[in-house]
Amino acid sequence: MKTFINANNIFGLLEETQRPSRHHAETIISKALKLKGLSPAEVAVLLNCGDDGILNNIFTAARQIKDSIYGNRLVLFAPLYLSNRCVNNCLYCGFRQENLDTGKRLLKTKEIRDETRALISQGHKRLLLVSAEDPAVDIDYLEEAIKTVYDTKEGNGSIRRLNVNVAPMGVKNFRRLKDTGIGTYQSFQETYHRDTYNKLHLSGPKSDYIRRLHACDLAQSAGIDDVGIGALFGLYDYKFEVLALLFHAMHLEDKFGVGPHTISVPRLEPAEGSKISSHPPHPVSDKELKKIIAILRLAVPYTGIILSTRESAALRNDLIYLGVSQISAGSKTVPGSYSGNGKAQGQFSISDDRSLSEVIEGLTSMGFLPSFCTSCYRSGRTGENFMNLAKPGDIKKFCQPNALLTFEEYLLDYNPKLAKKINSFISSEVRKIPDPKVRHLTSNHIKSLIQGKRDLYF
Ligand code: SAM
Ligand code: SF4
Repeated sequence: MKTFINANNIFGLLEETQRPSRHHAETIISKALKLKGLSPAEVAVLLNCGDDGILNNIFTAARQIKDSIYGNRLVLFAPLYLSNRCVNNCLYCGFRQENLDTGKRLLKTKEIRDETRALISQGHKRLLLVSAEDPAVDIDYLEEAIKTVYDTKEGNGSIRRLNVNVAPMGVKNFRRLKDTGIGTYQSFQETYHRDTYNKLHLSGPKSDYIRRLHACDLAQSAGIDDVGIGALFGLYDYKFEVLALLFHAMHLEDKFGVGPHTISVPRLEPAEGSKISSHPPHPVSDKELKKIIAILRLAVPYTGIILSTRESAALRNDLIYLGVSQISAGSKTVPGSYSGNGKAQGQFSISDDRSLSEVIEGLTSMGFLPSFCTSCYRSGRTGENFMNLAKPGDIKKFCQPNALLTFEEYLLDYNPKLAKKINSFISSEVRKIPDPKVRHLTSNHIKSLIQGKRDLYF
């Protein structure tokens, strides 16, 4: 397997585009507003812009692009950690093998059910299954864990989409993973800079840079057509990582006809047992994180951008305007901790520790529409089908009414107090649906939900 990341090419692009003119940057921003994405050379120009005036224009454009593709909806999810026992030694992570203080733990079936129940009781419909690279978390275990999550019911609720972030596997096992009915398979390269990667991943299967780089290729080859990529910001120069993410997206699009479904932008957080996590080798400031997210939104307008609770509530409130389309809420990174059984240490420290309902109240007060929608993947709008709708901006036709229906379900089942408070917000969101037929149907569906029906979607 060859690398599709050419470091010299990336350094060359960053070198050639230093100190760009305002006019050049503005031309690129105007092009991005046409929703056709940007080339690596254009992204390099924007990355090299330091002028606050241009940065503000990049932010405004990112906001417009997000609005025109996804509207004001923001998808919510929570991670469910299965194991913190790891055979790898990633120097930034609290779970790494050499860190013996984490109270290592692998969830049993009953514990997975308890965790799922606790998350459903908060109102979650979408989870991200996460695990350290634990030999016990093999495909048999994962099949059982995923079945357990999907089979768990609590009141009116259940989990309708389970995304997965676990160690890469071979195509045969990826096929079995696909057959369990997962949504997206995610694997983060952490850093695309090979020397840095080698220095930070001391041992275990993850120490193989090339193997890691091709995790999403193998998943795609096995038929998992929604894959998620990401970089852990703080390990290496953020400009290099953003360009590498773009090259990764282009590689997937060239090879499989569909780019990544999501890009995650975690930033290094302090983790117990990791010296480097509290002193990132390449610290990324809040302003730089805003720039990263906004430029990605311009570069790959159709791709979901995921933001986790690693970031503070205040910063997340800024970042969701700049192109983020999915956020986690009420997260815990200790296996077993949603149901009150997690005594061990988490993978890293969480900055936004608000509950799901607090996050939701905050979002609605800012005019965002919280969404628990899982319609696309249950209606076959995945991979290329999804991209064919997302690229021209047509996905919004589904996102907006489905966000409303799933949010109404949440309000009825988990937050009647808020439901009363934001009644007029819901009505005004319904009025905003442009197609009269869809608007009418959404209104009727909301009435049916109030009468007790559930799981209605377009
Ligand atoms: N163990 C698998 C792996 O490494 O791919 C699965 C997921 S791992 C539990 C999830 C992600 O957490 C990693 O890909 C990494 O980007 C992130 N992570 C690890 N340590 C972190 C830290 N100190 N701060 C922020 N994110 C961290
Ligand atoms: Fe293990 Fe993943 Fe942590 Fe690396 S990042 S030590 S593979 S859990």
